Amino acid sequence: MARGDGRLNHDILPGETGPQDACGVFGVWAPGEEVGKLTYYGLYALQHRGQESAGIATSDGERVLVYKDMGLVSQVFDETSLGSLTGHLAIGHTRYSTTGASKWENAQPTLGGTAHHTIALAHNGNLINTSELRGLLSARHVDGFGTAGGELRRGNTTDTAIVTSLLGSRAEGVSLEEAAMEQLPLVKGAFCFVFMDEHTLYAARDPQGVRPLVIGRLERGWVVASETAALDIVGASYVREVEPGELVVVDEQGLRTRRFAEPEPKGCVFEYVYLARPDTTIAGRGVYEARVEMGRELARQHPVEADMVMPSPESGTPAAIGYAEESGIPYGQGLVKNAYVGRTFIAPSQTIRQLGIRLKLNPLRDVIKGKRLVVVDDSIVRGNTQRALVRMLREAGAAEVHVRISSPPVRWPCFYGIDFASRAELIATGIDIEGVRRSVGADSLGYISEDGMIAATHQPRERLCTACFSGQYPLGVPDDQAVVLDPAHA
Ligand code: SF4
Repeated sequence: MARGDGRLNHDILPGETGPQDACGVFGVWAPGEEVGKLTYYGLYALQHRGQESAGIATSDGERVLVYKDMGLVSQVFDETSLGSLTGHLAIGHTRYSTTGASKWENAQPTLGGTAHHTIALAHNGNLINTSELRGLLSARHVDGFGTAGGELRRGNTTDTAIVTSLLGSRAEGVSLEEAAMEQLPLVKGAFCFVFMDEHTLYAARDPQGVRPLVIGRLERGWVVASETAALDIVGASYVREVEPGELVVVDEQGLRTRRFAEPEPKGCVFEYVYLARPDTTIAGRGVYEARVEMGRELARQHPVEADMVMPSPESGTPAAIGYAEESGIPYGQGLVKNAYVGRTFIAPSQTIRQLGIRLKLNPLRDVIKGKRLVVVDDSIVRGNTQRALVRMLREAGAAEVHVRISSPPVRWPCFYGIDFASRAELIATGIDIEGVRRSVGADSLGYISEDGMIAATHQPRERLCTACFSGQYPLGVPDDQAVVLDPAHA
């Protein structure tokens, strides 16, 4: 189906998708509050993390209700559907598919259960041992995943459905909390799970803490969310991050935590570069400030004589501000966004597709004409967007176009929840930087170094995943993917 775009970023060419985050997750335990609506607003703030489907599960202590559908949060829910999502706890999810197709059956939260409880689970990340977990499930349930098979038996093909079934597959009498403590150490890969039964809210983060997950406090309850920006929108105060390897449990006794694995932090560096909202804070570092600093460093590493610095809208904005600040070259806007095109997105016909970038952006010719421009973007994936952008700026009269990128060349696929493109589609895989420059048609091209990018995050290198730039996969690769790796990095 046609996908509305939540924000203008890499999707400025019709049919061309940029890096897609796996998902956003949200959970709330707050008796007396409108938990369905709080979750709706939490998901609204996390829309950039997934735009294919959205869902909310609520419980009133007796019954778990799930409502989910394809589309943006604002398209899936209305007053009527939210009015039925009542109770004292809720979880929610916005999805972009990394495993399993983009279809209704794979939307989340995923339902499962035992003879006595219903389980609803939402996942951000991507697992790397799903074959092993499937084997484990079939060994436990010889009748085709058994009663705990849940949505797996109804066509859900995601790794999330596997984990939901795994949690429901324990012997009768084992609580969901104990099942989680027992099963989570078996799950490998990147995961932030937010899940619930009729009474209790749970949140768990993988031992490497690849994707962000934070805890917030409401006057009458608790919130967990992928990003701090989702706490802000519901008026929750930030408490702390869910620690890597930690299980958080919230019920009428309050919030308690347990450790299911030793932490070995490897946070995703690309969250700082592009994925997270600029108003989010990760590991104590504001994402906006990290991006501005990447721009400053880019200016130090790749200076150029120019008349104006401008962003590739909109994701290049903070780094462009940093570049302008450090270089002393004035910052300006060379493009105007057709603001609402994404909201009424119609699958483009071939004729419309040929309009390309013009569907979403229009150049300010008076600003651009005769100028030597520095165009700052956060990353180059296939190069098609930058090529179209450079061409548009030249046609609008730019004298020179210098492209600057606030991350190193993306050369490797991500197996931990981000969908860039296949390795063959990544422009920097097959050619050197001069080849990329020629391909996008820029007068010069400069990428920030890996060290420069990492320094801007204020995190030590050993606490970060940089695999899409370096090819070094700190969690390993999925059981069926070893073949794509360069032996030097395996
Ligand atoms: S491979 Fe790249 S996008 Fe994926 S988790 Fe690592 S740094 Fe993040």
